[in-house]
Amino acid sequence: MSVLRVIPLGGLGEIGMNCMILEFNDEILVVDCGLIFSDLDYLGVEFVIPDFSYLREKKDKIKAFIMTHGHEDHIGALPFAIKAGIHAPVYASSFTSLLIRERLKEHGLEDRVDLRVFRMGDQFSFKNFKISTVSVNHSIIDSAALIIDTPVGKVIHTGDFKIDPTPFFGQMIDLNSFARAGEEGVLLLLSDSTNVERHEHSMSESVIYQKFEQLFAAAQGLTIVSMFASNVSRMGQVFDLAKKLNKKIALAGRSMEQNVKLGLEAGYLQGAESRVIRLEEIDHYPRDQVIILSTGSQGEHRSALIRIAMGEHGQVQLQPGDLVLMSSKFIPGNEKAIGRMINHLFKQGAEVLYEAVHDIHVSGHATQPELRQMLELVKPKFFIPIHGEYRHLVHHASLAKQTGVLDQNTFIAVNGDVIELTSETCRIAEHREEIRVLVEGREGNDISKLVLRERRQMGEKGVVFSLLVRNAESRRVISGPEIISKGLAHEEREGWLLEEAKKLVKKIVSDYDRALGSRGPEMDLQETIRVELRRFFNQNIGKKPIVLPIILDL
Ligand SMILES: [Zn+2]
Repeated sequence: MSVLRVIPLGGLGEIGMNCMILEFNDEILVVDCGLIFSDLDYLGVEFVIPDFSYLREKKDKIKAFIMTHGHEDHIGALPFAIKAGIHAPVYASSFTSLLIRERLKEHGLEDRVDLRVFRMGDQFSFKNFKISTVSVNHSIIDSAALIIDTPVGKVIHTGDFKIDPTPFFGQMIDLNSFARAGEEGVLLLLSDSTNVERHEHSMSESVIYQKFEQLFAAAQGLTIVSMFASNVSRMGQVFDLAKKLNKKIALAGRSMEQNVKLGLEAGYLQGAESRVIRLEEIDHYPRDQVIILSTGSQGEHRSALIRIAMGEHGQVQLQPGDLVLMSSKFIPGNEKAIGRMINHLFKQGAEVLYEAVHDIHVSGHATQPELRQMLELVKPKFFIPIHGEYRHLVHHASLAKQTGVLDQNTFIAVNGDVIELTSETCRIAEHREEIRVLVEGREGNDISKLVLRERRQMGEKGVVFSLLVRNAESRRVISGPEIISKGLAHEEREGWLLEEAKKLVKKIVSDYDRALGSRGPEMDLQETIRVELRRFFNQNIGKKPIVLPIILDL
């Protein structure tokens, strides 16, 4: 009997790297293909992407990538999927497709992808699947949920969503479509779990408007608004207010400039051009008439805001009276970096407002009352929470049970689970080992566990090189040793340590020479030096550095 297989490659048990496979007979759809930023950045890991080996094995079956919206954790891994040899048309809404186009350009892949733009409410069909796109509210415009008709029943994938009755741009979430699907019968609901721990209904994006208006109008100096560059609705509010209050806007950060362009291209920021001045020009205007839209809300290394905070920005120097509005969430894991940045902004004399002290950010994710509303509209037979850390999934599963989903029909699945559905049943049939690919930079070179371990060791313990030159024929050492270290010990101590290490290696060499003369079995010079030096450093500084004995045979 044919079953529908649902396989999350990422996004379950974490917030980020969303990627979900739907497979029926000879067809596969991939919903979202995102990345997650790494907390191993100090070891050179920039971000992490899903392992595509399952998709590579079955690449002839893949009919489409369908993107719910343009956040990096939903589209960022697409170029790497393509580089892994996975090719299929990519379906995306209009603003999402612009962001995808930019990502593909960065990788030189824009001609390799058949990008198909859908409007909300559009339907497209495959042999076993019929997709209906449904408009939802989120912190990026043009976000979609998917209602997917399959041979075993209807599957709803909410994407990221909230219920915002007064979004700044565009339409409110299309609740009617969800209700209609609920009446027709929904086999499986996959729903966003990010904010399940919050009990108050999420605030509307339009709340920001009044907050910003008061703050902008009262500004004594420069106003800097930092936020995610992809949040075009919020950007639109700043532009709107700049017009109303007759202020100018300068853009700090490459992605901010890029997203303003894309927002204009998508038709969302009409009239914005006339407000924009270059950063170099801000001193030509009264300070209280300038607003800077800036990247760097997460305290990212070298971002515009961190450079401003450190007093290292070429064009923007803060003064007392300036105001910095941090209009974004502190993403877990980034709190320390953001906190440090805020301290530096205060040290520069600015006033800083952020979520903990002032309501200048609203979340893009549904909270408990909205998640409950979704469950009650859709009335799914089976429920699997997605897009959340494990505890979010657990809370969301209990919420589903409260709305009437049967206990045995609620599943907490994790990445790599293979979920099989018929029209009557749902079960986690097997678990594939979840492999994550650690990526170093835009080139997409992956970092193996071994390399990561070596980097960690080098970082924690330092490296020592021991150089010797040997006569290839006589096997006698003719020059050296030279000993060089990096990151080993305090400079004051290092000289003594290396001298002693040199004496040790000399002694090993003379033992080696003697052994050569006695014509016994040749001693493994390299390995002996490595072992002895590690022992020596362990005795003297309490750690074993990486030791690289190099012997040149001439
Ligand atoms: Zn999102």
